[in-house]
Amino acid sequence: MKKIPIPFLLIPFFSLAQGWDNVKIEANQVSSNVYFLKGRGGNIGVLAGSDGVLLIDDQFAALTDKITDAVRGITSAPITYIINTHYHGDHMGGNENFKKNDVEILAHKNVSARLALTFEDKIRKVTQEAKPESAWPTLDIPFSQMGLKLYGEDLEIIHLPNSHTDGDMIVHFKKSNVIHTGDTFVRYGFPFIDVAAGGSIDGIIKAQQKILELADENTKIIPGHGDIATIENVSELLTMLQETRKIIADHKSNGVALEDLIPMNPLKFYHNRWNGSFITTDLFVQLVYESL
Ligand SMILES: [Zn+2]
Repeated sequence: MKKIPIPFLLIPFFSLAQGWDNVKIEANQVSSNVYFLKGRGGNIGVLAGSDGVLLIDDQFAALTDKITDAVRGITSAPITYIINTHYHGDHMGGNENFKKNDVEILAHKNVSARLALTFEDKIRKVTQEAKPESAWPTLDIPFSQMGLKLYGEDLEIIHLPNSHTDGDMIVHFKKSNVIHTGDTFVRYGFPFIDVAAGGSIDGIIKAQQKILELADENTKIIPGHGDIATIENVSELLTMLQETRKIIADHKSNGVALEDLIPMNPLKFYHNRWNGSFITTDLFVQLVYESL
């Protein structure tokens, strides 16, 4: 029987614990030395040097061997560094495994601080459990921006405060003209603004503006989820975010309560293009409202 691939976000949460054997890690070349890997979870960026390999994010613990094999298919150089774009488990679930192989893992300092916390997400009605220190990055980046020359590439790592979360960093491969955005830019419809973890509509708008400031028409943009993108895709998302922010902010400043706003369906004209199974139109209204 032919198998139909199901995007990660459409898989109900309870089924995530199974089916790892069926996950295929697919490598896509983006430039002479930059690749991205698709599997289950966030897209992984790969900088393949002759002496070592930098990964951007590492998906889930159950996929570490498959990810390592996929990198082996690109280069025989060892995986030496990982940058975690943020704290979500579908982007840093492999940390513990890679740390056992002495891989250095860098992330904005808010990522370790966030992973150390158990906290409630009242909007989505879930508890985010703290992760053991063995899963945390090995190096906390205290800067809002950091340049790094590594494996022949000029990297700029930039913190985009309070956007998808409070600890998002994007990675600009300046020589290759590639940007890995983490989940500050995604292609599954309305983006997830993790308000409980410091995300906000204004921050995620600024994130798109920053990406557009760094990029040109030839820039290859690796999103947190979905296919490779261009500035046109980022511009489209930015326009939607600005328009929907205005609609919801106007209602909020007119004193409309959230429970009254949702039945009014204020984003009905955006529903067909942007509604997703993970972030529905109603949930997006709520996330924007709560973060204003
Ligand atoms: Zn995320």
